[in-house]
Amino acid sequence: MPNETALEIKNISHAFGNILAVKEFNIEIARGEVVCLLGPSGCGKTTALRIVAGLEELQAGQIFLTGKCIAGNGSSVPAEKRGIGLVFQDYALFPHLNVLQNVTFGLERMSGSEKNFRAETVLERVGMKWAIARYPHTLSGGQQQRVALARAIAPEPALILLDEPFSGLDARLRDQVRDESLHILKETGTAALLVTHDAEEAMFMGDQIAVMREGKIVQFDKPDILYTHPTDVFVAEFFGEVNKFYCRALDGIVSTPVGQFSAPGLQNGDEAVVVIRPEAITLNSERSDSHLYGKVLASRMLGRASLIHLSQCDYEHEEFHIHSRVPGRFLPQEGEIVPITLKPDHVFVFNVPS
Ligand code: ATP
Repeated sequence: MPNETALEIKNISHAFGNILAVKEFNIEIARGEVVCLLGPSGCGKTTALRIVAGLEELQAGQIFLTGKCIAGNGSSVPAEKRGIGLVFQDYALFPHLNVLQNVTFGLERMSGSEKNFRAETVLERVGMKWAIARYPHTLSGGQQQRVALARAIAPEPALILLDEPFSGLDARLRDQVRDESLHILKETGTAALLVTHDAEEAMFMGDQIAVMREGKIVQFDKPDILYTHPTDVFVAEFFGEVNKFYCRALDGIVSTPVGQFSAPGLQNGDEAVVVIRPEAITLNSERSDSHLYGKVLASRMLGRASLIHLSQCDYEHEEFHIHSRVPGRFLPQEGEIVPITLKPDHVFVFNVPS
């Protein structure tokens, strides 16, 4: 029976001098699955990817590709023999080879006619067959990235590694190339590990996302679980702007200017942070059962949603600035008093470690 796990990374750690760039890192990627490594700059994403590619020497842990150990226990398969496709932000096409030659480059085990047939097939799939005789410098960024993807998938690798592959493209083209890339990965059943610092991109591309911070994976889950059940404030904030209130627990409850919430597991006096997504704060001028009101500071239409800036006073008359995101066009006037209601499923209470 074929091994259903494409990649297994077991407990890898990596230091550059005294900088511990990757710490006890574990991930499993199934065949055909796209996993994103998401985190802020410097958290170790690229280092983890380069270790899997064989571009960085493994210092600790093991890596298995379709069940075979490619690094660990004192041995290491060289990068070019791992059978892993690579796609980088800067496309990294060979400038002295034309598009067809770039794609056939990694197909050395095939005969000449087979090579050309495979290369033309994948180039057709990425919409670049028309450019087979062109050189990279004569192509746009989006076109070069499509060729880079074709080159990576042509040898039918068990795994593709993509490092910020779309960040060199402008917004509209990025959406298009991203969408095409996802369909190609899914159609070909290629497992992929994609590095990005963009949460929206990770949610678009990833079947699962590993959120990294300071070299460690802090949560590895499906995108909807990460969004609805973040394990800490760092993860919650990474997936979009939030309202935050710091307070202390009392009798299992935390009190904020926008309401009281249960704080399971928190002892009296424990410091907590209450994270409320702007979409959890709904404003409905027709509701009269709300006991909570906010004063509109500004209303902005952001395309599919509107963002309302509100001021809200707590019991000690301290003023808070909160953001509410409502679908569609809803633009109350500056100075208007609007009733506030809360959707509890987008409110998270976390302990603040002392
Ligand atoms: P970015 O999104 O900015 O590319 P990243 O999450 O990919 O960041 P890495 O490039 O893996 O992060 O870097 C992790 C840490 O290791 C950083 O502190 C970085 O400065 C350090 N680092 C990376 N490569 C080297 C190197 N070759 N020599 C020394 N330090 C390095």
